[in-house]
Amino acid sequence: MNIHPSLIGFDIDGVVADTMEAFIRIAGEDYGVYTISPEDITHFMVEDCLDIDPTIIDEIFTLLLDDPLKAGLKPMPYATVVLNELSHVAPLTFVTARPQREPIDKWLREVLGKSVYKKTRLVAMGEHDGKADYIKKFGLKYFVDDRAQTCIMLDQEGITPYVFSQPWNRGRHELETVKDWRGIRALCLGAEDFRLRDQQE
Ligand SMILES: [Mg+2]
Repeated sequence: MNIHPSLIGFDIDGVVADTMEAFIRIAGEDYGVYTISPEDITHFMVEDCLDIDPTIIDEIFTLLLDDPLKAGLKPMPYATVVLNELSHVAPLTFVTARPQREPIDKWLREVLGKSVYKKTRLVAMGEHDGKADYIKKFGLKYFVDDRAQTCIMLDQEGITPYVFSQPWNRGRHELETVKDWRGIRALCLGAEDFRLRDQQE
């Protein structure tokens, strides 16, 4: 049985947005730190797992929060094409822990395009905990997030979480996972669409 798109919501960083790609790229381009590989990011709080100056980490995250467009933050592979499809069935709901709404709202408008953006709802909470309240307020039953702790809490609150597979959530939960946006599409709209094969990557 498929999940109706009106019942599922999405986190942004690490799910819709390839925040790790941007982080690694900016560390190299702006700070000359070329030693980070995605598999090194084994903690959600990157300062706990990377041996680089915390000031650099802080500056990169500040840029990603304040101006994701300037940071060149990219959508995850297949995210925009799947979100576009889902938006034809129901509005899209995003709940992010980001503190400021406007920069990521602009980013969504840019990457989704005007017609899909018009069908989005966005909450920027400013904290990681308490997502369940917003998710319930929107009448959602399912939520996709890359932070294991968030997913565990949603599960306890009666919301079915899907952990978006990332190096920092592996082995940290026993919940359902989705590997990528093709997996999200399969959950909501059924079998994989041929157009999503080998289009990117
Ligand atoms: Mg996230």
